[in-house]
Amino acid sequence: MVTVLDQRTMRHPEKAHRPDSARAPKKPDWIRVRAPGSPVYQETMDLVRSKSLVTVCEEAGCPNIGECWSKKHATFMIMGDTCTRACAFCNVRTGRPEALDAAEPQKVADAVATLGLEHVVVTSVDRDDLADGGANHMADTIRAIRATAPGATIEVLTPDFLRKPGALETVVHAKPDVFNHNLETVPSNYLRVRPGARYYHSIRLLDRVKMLNPEIFTKSGIMVGLGEQRNEVLQLMDDLRSADVDFLTIGQYLQPTRKHHPVIEYVTPKEFGAYKTIAFAKGFLMVASSPLTRSSYHAGDDFAKMRQARASKLSRVAEAD
Ligand code: SF4
Repeated sequence: MVTVLDQRTMRHPEKAHRPDSARAPKKPDWIRVRAPGSPVYQETMDLVRSKSLVTVCEEAGCPNIGECWSKKHATFMIMGDTCTRACAFCNVRTGRPEALDAAEPQKVADAVATLGLEHVVVTSVDRDDLADGGANHMADTIRAIRATAPGATIEVLTPDFLRKPGALETVVHAKPDVFNHNLETVPSNYLRVRPGARYYHSIRLLDRVKMLNPEIFTKSGIMVGLGEQRNEVLQLMDDLRSADVDFLTIGQYLQPTRKHHPVIEYVTPKEFGAYKTIAFAKGFLMVASSPLTRSSYHAGDDFAKMRQARASKLSRVAEAD
């Protein structure tokens, strides 16, 4: 069957003529989310609208929006709402993006100050159309937040900057506290799930962040339920540890529409718990693994735990010397 999409509102033109994927199996009981609607949720939404900001919370249809926005936690998505890639799991609009808004870095910084955020996560669409992949705009945003909300710690969730020489260095030199780049899935799924990306390029990107500035925490995340095998997830953990990545997030893939990749399985909370135990044993400083884990879910609290874990590790090393 082919679902016909409204041409005016179609978010994914490249998927329009594809046959529908299998309908996702009924969600199990453990995938339950709080309905949006608290007064603080409304306040967060009003601020986002008044500053014409884009959030990945809305664009990706994140299931945690009710909880996060009720705590004023929004993840800002810069450089527009249109992505130049076409990943099979992602609900962000695809197509030809608009020109960059030079005022955006300051708008985001003002929003961070207004919300009183202690930790902010900034992500972006992929901008393969720009010579630097948007790296300078992201670095400007980091600097604007530092100047406007100096108490806030900053986490960036970046594209892979494939074939954009110097882009990674530009972002690292702006010194975010956390550099996050998601692998999204195991390498055997890449051609189906993340066709524009290269698994080992992403691993090398994370490795290079640490080489350039070992003080920056590095982080990466994957979705499960996309048909991956358990041993592949364990190998992926080893690949990330070989790049000295500090923090791993693992969450359940949910199918945005029938044009997206099907959900192959719902991984049980017990299996998420087992992944977490194994990942800690492999040496990650911090692991978040649960059905509703997303890259930015509880990012501030987890950043504090990760910083504490590094401090404890360093003091143990110092005592042993
Ligand atoms: S988990 Fe992240 S993307 Fe989802 S609502 Fe929370 S802050 Fe937004």
